[in-house]
Amino acid sequence: MTTCKNCLYRDTHPFGLYIKNGICSGCVTHEEKYEIDWSDRSELLKNKISKIIRKKRSHYDCVIPYSGDAEDYHVVNIVLGLGLNPLMVSINDYFLNDIGWHNSHNLITHFDLDSYTFNPEISAYKELVRTSMRKHTHALWPSLALKSAFPVHVAKQKKIPLIIYGQNQPIEQVGKFSHLEEVESSSWSRIEHDLFGHEINDLLGSGGHVVSKDNPYYSYPDLSKLGSGKLVGLYLSNYYLWDPLYQNSQVLKYGFIPQRQNSTFDPYERAGSSIYYNFHDLSKKVRCGYRKINDHVAREIRHSRLSTKEGKKIISYYDLNPVYIKDFFNWLEVSNSGYEWFVTHKLHSVKHLVLDKEVNLTHPSHLLPTKLTKNISKSKRPKKSFETFMKGIRL
Ligand SMILES: [Zn+2]
Repeated sequence: MTTCKNCLYRDTHPFGLYIKNGICSGCVTHEEKYEIDWSDRSELLKNKISKIIRKKRSHYDCVIPYSGDAEDYHVVNIVLGLGLNPLMVSINDYFLNDIGWHNSHNLITHFDLDSYTFNPEISAYKELVRTSMRKHTHALWPSLALKSAFPVHVAKQKKIPLIIYGQNQPIEQVGKFSHLEEVESSSWSRIEHDLFGHEINDLLGSGGHVVSKDNPYYSYPDLSKLGSGKLVGLYLSNYYLWDPLYQNSQVLKYGFIPQRQNSTFDPYERAGSSIYYNFHDLSKKVRCGYRKINDHVAREIRHSRLSTKEGKKIISYYDLNPVYIKDFFNWLEVSNSGYEWFVTHKLHSVKHLVLDKEVNLTHPSHLLPTKLTKNISKSKRPKKSFETFMKGIRL
């Protein structure tokens, strides 16, 4: 295993990281951000979009997949600035707390947008989550499968020719492609990056005998009959200088609420998720050997808001922060013995980080430069995790 001597990422990164002379492909590609003429790039995007929507047969110009994340606010702001009429499409993954629901609803109402939300049938969905946890030690896989496929189904059904995403993660994290390659979304990229090489069929019939009318939306639709160029998925991070911490800090003025986390200093990314910084973070450590804090530290070192030395100390601190995950197992309707089995067998290497009850940990202010903690004082703790809304009815 090799570690990048700049950003501290390891070559075990699931997207595939290449390290040469001590510096990783992500750091090398990041340097493009300071060499590219971004005003040229945004003009290129405008021309590209005008060609794509010229023959549109829908009231809407594009689909924007959303969950209410800070980045979604930034994306909407850019898309409206381009004069486009978007249809917002989301998946209810049932993993939102009260802050997440606020941010999701507020995005739609603040910008007065049309939206379309899919609520997967919950018992089949829970079964898929349990099966994915047993098979892949991954609770988010079913929701990632839906989130990466359903907006494409909607675009196809409603004859909307364009889907607009925010960042291209493989470029931002590991520099897998150049920004200049203008990578577009594809069925291949979805399986390779969003879904770690797995298909829904890997989960069906393997203990979770799920037969559900929702199943088509867990897979990519067949686009072959549309012909090439009829449905295009673009990433804005190929056309604008993408600086997540900075741009996310700017969306509080639209009513976005940042969340105070125990496992990172970043109050914006995935604010409002009930499992991202607790169960998912621990399972990421088991699967990939590192926690989300490494992603945030790598990003901040590259954007020059942290030195490598500071980053190392911050990772060492948060890496040992324990988390509470029992509420997630309760929501999943897993018995106490099932919970104990999972922690003992599947989370064995991080068992010492599993708490018996919820606690609020303080941030290591002595380790964090003020540039990183700007809005932490404005961030909130959730009042309730797993606020389940289903088909418009609050349970
Ligand atoms: Zn690096």
